[in-house]
Amino acid sequence: MSSHSHADHSAPAGDPTFTARKRSTIEVLRRVWKYLLPYKLLALATVGCAVLSLLCALTYPKLTEYIIDGIIQKDGGIQRLKWAVLAMAGAFLLRDLFNSLRIRINNHFEQNVIFDMRREVFGKLQRLPVNYFDKRSSGDLMTRVVEDINNVERVLIDGTEQGTVAILCIGGISGILFYTNPFLAAVALSPLPLLAAGALWYTLTAHRRYRRQREAASAMNALLMDDLQGIRQIKAYGRQDHEDARFADRANALRKGNLGIMRAWANYNPAMNFFAALGIVLVLWFGGQEVMADNMTTGELVGFLFYLMLFYEPVARLHGLNQMLQSARAAGERVFDILDHDIERDEARKTELSEPVKGEVIYKDVGFEYEPARPILKNISLHAKPGEMIALVGPTGAGKSTLVNLLPAFYEISSGHVTIDGQSVGDTSLASLRQHIAIVSQEPFLFNGTIRENIQYGKLDAIEDELIAAAKAANCHEFITALPEGYDARVGERGVKLSVGEKQRVSVARALLADAPLLILDEATASVDTATERLIQEALEHLMEGRTSFVIAHRLSTIRKANQILVLKNGEIIERGTHETLLEQNGLYAKLARIQNTTFIEESFEKLEE
Ligand code: ATP
Repeated sequence: MSSHSHADHSAPAGDPTFTARKRSTIEVLRRVWKYLLPYKLLALATVGCAVLSLLCALTYPKLTEYIIDGIIQKDGGIQRLKWAVLAMAGAFLLRDLFNSLRIRINNHFEQNVIFDMRREVFGKLQRLPVNYFDKRSSGDLMTRVVEDINNVERVLIDGTEQGTVAILCIGGISGILFYTNPFLAAVALSPLPLLAAGALWYTLTAHRRYRRQREAASAMNALLMDDLQGIRQIKAYGRQDHEDARFADRANALRKGNLGIMRAWANYNPAMNFFAALGIVLVLWFGGQEVMADNMTTGELVGFLFYLMLFYEPVARLHGLNQMLQSARAAGERVFDILDHDIERDEARKTELSEPVKGEVIYKDVGFEYEPARPILKNISLHAKPGEMIALVGPTGAGKSTLVNLLPAFYEISSGHVTIDGQSVGDTSLASLRQHIAIVSQEPFLFNGTIRENIQYGKLDAIEDELIAAAKAANCHEFITALPEGYDARVGERGVKLSVGEKQRVSVARALLADAPLLILDEATASVDTATERLIQEALEHLMEGRTSFVIAHRLSTIRKANQILVLKNGEIIERGTHETLLEQNGLYAKLARIQNTTFIEESFEKLEE
């Protein structure tokens, strides 16, 4: 809960938690392009519809010119006018039909791409090493999966179609303009350098703004998520106002970020429109004189003006695309940061544990550090024979959890070896490794679903009998059947609707169902009444039967039963043996056991320190 500290009142701009490596627009585009390839046909179809709709639209300036010069000015008769007007209506209808088709195809294209990208990112996230998540906030990662992906794909979808069409349009219409009247065409396009300069300015400055905005969005979501999870703490400490202020800070950073983007756009977009309008004014000035000098008809001038408007429409669209591109670049950097991170292990190059796994575990001179130059474990050596129970005791922060977390390779060891049945853990595939290790943690995590789903997590294809047998052995069958919905009762987020003791036992049932030969057990320190205590103890004993178990033990009653007791202090094993031999040695453990008159070993450690 470090983020609840009072110091954290500043806007998070530049916070490494939320930033991503900078990448060029080209790199982002090249990466994004890959997602289009499976949908080449859909992409082609949208571009096709857009071109057809554009061709229909291109007929109306010519038709207008014909109606004015060929019919109205020459009194060509109501019949001809009727047909010409009907033709125009037809052209508009076709234009919009093709448009409708394009939008529908585009929707599929878009949703498919988002679907693919989102699945890929989620799949990747799950395979990233645990330390990746230690350094980041869930809210930030969520923002990347939910919001950033949308921003990235928009440029792909809209870019493909609008970009192609806009470029075709600009090329085609400038051809028509020059063919119709080269002089007026040159006049009409004379503001283009101004437009280009504006676009360049926008492009060069936009990335910075979008990056800031994405980071601010991330930081706000991160705080939101943290606060929702800590809602009980907020209430308990009455820190609503404090959190209001922190949230306001971050929401304000996002507000500023958004305003920054909007301000730039508010300057850029109308300026571009104004430059484009200059072209029209210039054409009227010079074209008007041409008409008055009888070098040109009124219809020709009107037709020319319509084409010119059609010309500036795609130019405006290109500006919009440029905006999207800058947004996609900033968002893409954040998405690709996830995709480019190394996954835990290259599974293909690792071997499986050979079955059946007996459960002999050896640590040899193991060293470990979370951060460089801050060793947490030093020279750890231990030998657990199949079926043995190893109790780990020691003061808080000694490295007990760290030691056991190395077995399922949640973290990679820095030095030494860890083997299971003689096979190096470092060379084993994670899937095979973890399939053989069951973990019951101190604060059991339950997913927001039913009790049944939570137990079945240990073995997804378990049949009802297995499930109930596991629940019975874990001493939870009784309380579950007493619930109105029984096994289908929902446990709430993280299992909030169950008591600690109930959660414990459900998680034991889950581990029993998984039936792994190795067990990691972090004994709960929370005090429960003696009856519950006994239920949990019994459940755990069932669980440990016949498995090699590593128990981070807090109760003398548990520790007494261990085959080996390892006493950890400052990342080193300072004493080892059974309860009896350790008492004989008369070291730290013996002192501890002597003063222990409560069930919690940690308290004794604290007393010793005093
Ligand atoms: P406790 O009984 O209180 O759970 P422990 O003996 O299990 O303590 P560990 O959780 O292994 O101790 O922690 C050992 C040390 O490693 C502590 O100093 C802790 O600050 C540090 N540490 C633990 N987890 C991480 C992490 N993910 N990143 C960096 N440092 C960590």
